[in-house]
Amino acid sequence: MSRDCTFLVVGGGIAGVSCAESLAICCLNASIVLVTESSIVKSVTNLVPVARYLHKFDVREQIASELGAGIATIVDQLAQINSREHWAKTKSGLVIKYRYMCLCTGGAPKLFSTSQEEHKERIIGIRDTDSVLELQRRLASAKDVLILGNGGIASELAYELRDVNVHWVIKDAHISATFVDPGAAEFFQLANGKTESDLEQEPPATTAIKRMRYSEMLPREEEELQNKHGAALGPDWHLNFDLSGGSGSSGRNLPRVYYKSHIEHLQQLPDDGRLRITLKHDDDTLEQLNCDFIVSATGVQPRHDYTTDAPLQLAEDGGINVDEMMRTNLSDVYAAGDVCTAAWMPAQHWFQMRLWTQARQMGAMAGRSMAAIHEGETIYQDFCFELFGHVTQLFGFPVVLLGRFNGQGLGRDYELLVRCTRNKEYIKFVLQNGRLRGAILIGDTDLAETCENLILNGTDLEPYGDDILNPDIDIEDYFD
Ligand code: FAD
Repeated sequence: MSRDCTFLVVGGGIAGVSCAESLAICCLNASIVLVTESSIVKSVTNLVPVARYLHKFDVREQIASELGAGIATIVDQLAQINSREHWAKTKSGLVIKYRYMCLCTGGAPKLFSTSQEEHKERIIGIRDTDSVLELQRRLASAKDVLILGNGGIASELAYELRDVNVHWVIKDAHISATFVDPGAAEFFQLANGKTESDLEQEPPATTAIKRMRYSEMLPREEEELQNKHGAALGPDWHLNFDLSGGSGSSGRNLPRVYYKSHIEHLQQLPDDGRLRITLKHDDDTLEQLNCDFIVSATGVQPRHDYTTDAPLQLAEDGGINVDEMMRTNLSDVYAAGDVCTAAWMPAQHWFQMRLWTQARQMGAMAGRSMAAIHEGETIYQDFCFELFGHVTQLFGFPVVLLGRFNGQGLGRDYELLVRCTRNKEYIKFVLQNGRLRGAILIGDTDLAETCENLILNGTDLEPYGDDILNPDIDIEDYFD
């Protein structure tokens, strides 16, 4: 069994589909084959620009065979690559001869590791529809669930599960640490701990502006934070599932958050097979709790479980190293999305984060890059790699993250200017030498484009002092 194509793309996630789609646009008559493990693929839809570098979009699932014209799909798993001879072999034995290939095989959840087989049965990761269905099945008879991790998935789940006691174990001193700082985490917790009638009875919120050095933003102590609870809406992926537990209490239980903690030990209870967990806190104290199962949401591990004729060069995080044109070290083999690690010298305001946004950008870049080589053209890296930008929803609020929004890579040499209006908006500017280096915009702030310009132009904001976030000054007009 063999097949020939010009472009072979592997993986039916956002990166693979974006890559195949851009190839179909750039090389109208070329043969493009997409190998996908599952007959359902993901693609980007409803793409709406929010600013020059920022796009809002939905991710939709569709049947692989219904992908756009010019893309042939094969439902199978890549097993072997021979890059010197330009062929790949699938698990079912199909040999595909290609001219250029792009690996978009994503990541697999990093699961909490234990050597005991019977414990493994009670640990699940969330990655795709199947794993959410598995979660749903287990929830039906569960009373207590432990969520491990502090990224986007854990944050959404912790506030979305119903009729079940949620124990949320995080290594940090504040929730959602992957995306936001302690101040924004508190903003979410306060906003989401309120019912609509609470909000109606409250006096109108005042706006506070505060300028802080890096050290003043360090997290508050655990005891202070433990008393604050919240409940939230989550982004679309879990709205399609009934995530109710089996406690029969018919309601939402606020999660109990265990800050600065990790799992030290687990054992199975002899009577009902549930897990007895021993947590260790950063101050070395221990705490025990029982749960039906653990949802391990501690990130993903790049997935490349196929053999190659020469070793793929990997980064420390296990991703396949790619250069600015998305090329790996193997000749004519490219990679994009969660499976790869950006090994080029990044622009001042960009860094890699494994998100849909970047899977789409990298997939499209790989497609354009392969097409250009094939057509003998020269292209440059896309301008989206100039500035980190991500639009999302957290706890029901629109969230825009720009540049080095959490001071990533800035050491301790930066200032934060924060404007917060309870239940309405949280704006944080990361300033270094008077220049804006990053921003978190929560709520309908309308500041995304202005912030993009201020970051990219390196405008000196020193002369404006705290007025830059004065709600009575329209800074959009100010810098027009
Ligand atoms: P994937 O989506 O993982 O796709 C890889 C594909 O390759 C899969 O279909 C896999 O089956 C296939 N594959 C793997 N190996 C092979 C093989 N050998 N042969 C054939 N096919 C293979 N990001 C956001 O920006 N916003 C969010 O709100 C958000 N929420 C998330 C919620 C969940 C539950 C999870 C798990 C992730 C979330 N992410 C979110 C992260 C986002 O999903 C990833 O960054 C993105 O999906 C990466 O896309 P990808 O195409 O690189 O990889």
